[in-house]
Amino acid sequence: MQENITLSKYTSFRIGGPASFFVEAKNDADFLSALKFSKEHNLPFLVLGGGTNMLISDQGFKGVVIRSLGKGLSFEDQGQNGLVVSETGNVLPIINQFANNNGLVGFEKLATVPGTLGGAIYNNAHWKDDLLSKHLLWVDVIDPEDRESSVKRLSLEELDFKYDSSAIKTKNLIALRAAILLPKGDVSESKKTYAKYLKSRTESQPYGTLNSGCMFQNVTQNLGPGNHGTSAGYLIDQAGLKGLKIGGAQISEKHGNFFINTGNASSNDILKLAETCKEKVKEKFGVELEFEVKIV
Ligand SMILES: Cc1cc2nc3c(=O)[nH]c(=O)nc-3n(C[C@H](O)[C@H](O)[C@H](O)COP(=O)(O)OP(=O)(O)OC[C@H]3O[C@@H](n4cnc5c(N)ncnc54)[C@H](O)[C@@H]3O)c2cc1C
Repeated sequence: MQENITLSKYTSFRIGGPASFFVEAKNDADFLSALKFSKEHNLPFLVLGGGTNMLISDQGFKGVVIRSLGKGLSFEDQGQNGLVVSETGNVLPIINQFANNNGLVGFEKLATVPGTLGGAIYNNAHWKDDLLSKHLLWVDVIDPEDRESSVKRLSLEELDFKYDSSAIKTKNLIALRAAILLPKGDVSESKKTYAKYLKSRTESQPYGTLNSGCMFQNVTQNLGPGNHGTSAGYLIDQAGLKGLKIGGAQISEKHGNFFINTGNASSNDILKLAETCKEKVKEKFGVELEFEVKIV
């Protein structure tokens, strides 16, 4: 257990003050002992994956930050399909590469989402028309409320996946590992598709900047082109907010839902920018934007 560890270097925003306590969890036992410590000291805990979907306050986190670093990966042949069982500290491109190495395809879109499997399960990661929950069979979890602190396997139904949500999020569970079912297929085609998707991201998103992906969730109302809800980026753009700057924080010129730390942004600069977006979008469209990024 380390003390007073600055969190900014663990987030893609490069923002975040100190954690009172910090532990790197490489296996189930590490998670369990960190949780025990947090209970014994009556402190909250926070699981940190890749930090690509978090805004941590400059004041830091007064509790125990558990950095998820379980990297186990295994493969089970199931005829036309294969099962990849991955611990939640693996990032999605590594899982995709492992799947390809075992002849599996179909994870190309999700493999372009930055961050760990744990963060992806928490928010049911999505890109274009793909959703992580479409590929999962089960997830092993720890429920911090469980007095026995045992590891339980949750089925897809129990995981209660929705857009930007899962039981991991709503019940504050810790995800340890998950089973991903993928079909066998043409691996060289899969690699080409993955490269194509990666390129399309660099073209449509502010690649190479300090950001945390989409700040807000898309809304269900049809307020723009298309009839499957409206992207928050479109609403921010239509409200004339692209490029707006407060302190060191800026709304990307390229994508209205990406907030950028231009180098010296405080957590408050980002929050003030977010509040401005919420107000202006509410004024113009009458809808309330909800954070996709976890605010700590
Ligand atoms: C450039 C860029 C592009 C992005 N594009 C997309 C996209 O297309 N689609 C998309 O869905 N997201 C996107 N994101 C957001 C982000 O990458 C995803 O939400 C990702 O899944 C977060 O994973 P993480 O490991 O970084 O999670 P973190 O940011 O570390 O954590 C996010 C949340 O998950 C929780 N968490 C993490 N691990 C666990 C665990 N093991 N058990 C329980 N809770 C856990 C954390 O406590 C926190 O509440 C993008 C981000 C960036 C920077």
